[in-house]
Amino acid sequence: MTEKLLSEISSPGRCAATLPQIDVSLTPLPEGLTREDLPLPEVSATDLMRHYTRLSQMNHAVDTGFYPLGSCTMKYNPKINEDMARLPGFTHLHPYQDEENVQGALFLMYHLQEFLKEIGGFAAVSLQPAAGAHGELTGVLIMRASQLDRGEDQRNVILVPDSAHGTNPATTSMSGLDVIEIPSDERGNVDLEALRAACEEHGERLVGMMLTNPNTLGLFDEHVEEIVDLIHEHGGLMYGDGANMNALLGIARPGDLGFDVLHYNLHKTFSTPHGGGGPGSGPVGVSEGLVDFLPAPIVSIDQARSDEEAVFYTLMAPSKTIGRVKAFYGHFGVMVRAYTYIRMLGPDGLRRVAEYAVLNANYLMSLVKGAYRVPYERTCMHEFVCEGKIEGAPDVHALDISKRLIDYGFHPPTNYFPLIVEEALMIEPTETESKDVLDAFAEALHRIAEEARANPDTLHEAPHNAPMRRLDEVYAARNLILHW
Ligand SMILES: *Cc1c(COP(=O)(O)O)cnc(C)c1O
Repeated sequence: MTEKLLSEISSPGRCAATLPQIDVSLTPLPEGLTREDLPLPEVSATDLMRHYTRLSQMNHAVDTGFYPLGSCTMKYNPKINEDMARLPGFTHLHPYQDEENVQGALFLMYHLQEFLKEIGGFAAVSLQPAAGAHGELTGVLIMRASQLDRGEDQRNVILVPDSAHGTNPATTSMSGLDVIEIPSDERGNVDLEALRAACEEHGERLVGMMLTNPNTLGLFDEHVEEIVDLIHEHGGLMYGDGANMNALLGIARPGDLGFDVLHYNLHKTFSTPHGGGGPGSGPVGVSEGLVDFLPAPIVSIDQARSDEEAVFYTLMAPSKTIGRVKAFYGHFGVMVRAYTYIRMLGPDGLRRVAEYAVLNANYLMSLVKGAYRVPYERTCMHEFVCEGKIEGAPDVHALDISKRLIDYGFHPPTNYFPLIVEEALMIEPTETESKDVLDAFAEALHRIAEEARANPDTLHEAPHNAPMRRLDEVYAARNLILHW
């Protein structure tokens, strides 16, 4: 099926709009303001509705099907979050309004900071960064600023494990620092020997280490406390990539494990729809020693203007702030969604999120591993990684399996990441899927393995039923066509 453009279904004289009776006198537009040669499509209301409804159905969404895209936490986003974010009292705010007039919004931001502090085990939180990668950049700049403040300007190296998300080395380089890659050991942990050697070699120059825990293999590092101690012994700081907090909520706190800085992805763990390019939100939490360096402004309580009746919230700049990292106050609508999500679940609900996320991932891994090898086979956290290779079908690759899953009505897992697993398929079911869905997905993967042996071309030519077949993704990304 090829989708027709609106201009192709256009027919002269059709109109989708009914305009109200004009109640002012007609005045011609000034010369030169109108164009005769602007061929706007002429379509009926029915054409228009069907066109956009059909377009909306051409994409896969969490609201239409299972979306096990590892590391992306494509969980169900409760619709009440949307209702709250759309309340006129929030949407009609202007960032230049006086503090007196926006106490409700500041209340929400203050308490979201407090919730994130509690969840992560940190002393303070900034809500400014616009996304996870932006939070990383902010965090690295904070680490660097605190070391410069102590006069340690020779420090310019960050250690990053080879299982890291691509944004980790990218933000390090953007901060003007050098990245040293640390290999993983055979159990999927950071290789401690290699880490010791790197600390010996670069100790004096160490800004710190960026660690994702659970890592992108879905594994909790078994030596996390030793790693943190090692970095601290060499004067470095420990950065936690907290994009995926789904396995930790209410169970373990990175701050308690010794991390100094961490970013949260509100649009993953705390349920804002994502995947279309934003907006997201990547708040940063810091330990006591880094509070003064947070980007400005953060929301605090103005004691002088508070009384028994009411607390007065104000925006303030920490004393040694790295400055602004975002216009105004960050992505407020995403904060409303996260606040609503946290308030709806409460502490016990958040903990249940983590318990079910981990249970679902382990259940699914146990079903899948009969057909697909899981190279680092341990109890996993919120996700696991298997190899997209099938015995007896040497020409079938992770990409073919992923494309075939589309025919079965599932979004493919993340593939070819992390880089340390060959033909990686990274599967994150999230806590919001039922056993029935997980069973059906595992069954599809088993059937695909059989198809691969019996008739590999079925997979090579997949997807067969999707509105689009295989795209040249590199070409599409390099040659953006944003209008026609
Ligand atoms: C998603 C993700 C990021 C980056 O977050 P963005 O909001 O996409 O910038 C960083 N690290 C990990 C582990 C992630 O999964």
